[in-house]
Amino acid sequence: MIPPWQKSASDKLDKMVQQNHLPHALLITGVDKIGKLNLTQNFIQKLLCPSSSCGTCEFCQSLQKDQPEEELGHSVLIRRSHYPNLIYCRTELNDSGSMSKEIRVDQIRAFCEVLSKTADSLQIGVIFYADQMNNNAANSLLKTLEEPRKNTLIILLAHNINLLPKTILSRCQTIHINPTYDQESADWLSNQITENTRDDFDSMQLLESSHGVPQKALDDLKGDYFLKYQSWQNLLLEIVLSPTKISNTDIFVDHELEVLKCLQHLLNEAIKIKVLDHEGANLELNQVVEKTSFNNLFKLLDDTNRAISMAQTTINIKLLLDNVLVVWSHITNLKKYPAITNIQEY
Ligand SMILES: [Zn+2]
Repeated sequence: MIPPWQKSASDKLDKMVQQNHLPHALLITGVDKIGKLNLTQNFIQKLLCPSSSCGTCEFCQSLQKDQPEEELGHSVLIRRSHYPNLIYCRTELNDSGSMSKEIRVDQIRAFCEVLSKTADSLQIGVIFYADQMNNNAANSLLKTLEEPRKNTLIILLAHNINLLPKTILSRCQTIHINPTYDQESADWLSNQITENTRDDFDSMQLLESSHGVPQKALDDLKGDYFLKYQSWQNLLLEIVLSPTKISNTDIFVDHELEVLKCLQHLLNEAIKIKVLDHEGANLELNQVVEKTSFNNLFKLLDDTNRAISMAQTTINIKLLLDNVLVVWSHITNLKKYPAITNIQEY
């Protein structure tokens, strides 16, 4: 099944097939958990099944048995699909039982060797994730990409294309899956949540807290991330409406970066409400917007964005968050926006 936010990427793939423009190498990109492998498997099924993913023919049945995500041991260089002309390549468990961080050159060699055999029907090789290939592996793959063979399709999946050599990028046609914030995806999400808890959550808010990645929202719900996120957001709003609450921020400890992102989200929402000039669903946030100038909202958003970038450095993030929160707690009655200590151009 193609979920709503993968539809446009899926349509682009279908179009390539219909117009007979299927390239030798495809690159499917998007953030973690957005559904790159799901899209790929759906696409392969449509390619192979004679009646577009009927679900019952021999092709569909063998593909449905595949579990490429399953972790296999160190000696497994590539894995074969139940469909004989399809192979997968991914990181493997190393000898100590933890997941290897990179795809090695011997894996890519084995992958390319299988694909170099002549075949009458389409041969497909999938690498996930291509941005995990080490330099030697990438170089080895490049040779195969430079000499495309008839009847062969290589599909690379990647979270971050900046980690891939330009020489590889230039040989692939790229399809990107975007994060989603639309109602159709929110409804999809809502349908995935068990009925007895569905009323407890606003699926649009869930999507926002997971930065537009529905599967991440579901995983967050399984843990207690979403509940934590709600409590951070509530406390942030309490702080701005009654600044003395700033002395009681224990729940932020060890979650400083996430709290900054939560504040970033609130400020973005606040600016949206102010621009559209009609109230949002969050009553407390509406009160904040009413009392705060555009200028101060923008400036604090700017500083919060900077603080988030700086959080990746060795900066003392507790102090950074404290300094940002002092300004946030007074944002509704600031005469002059102050320079926040420790926040520099980054
Ligand atoms: Zn079928």
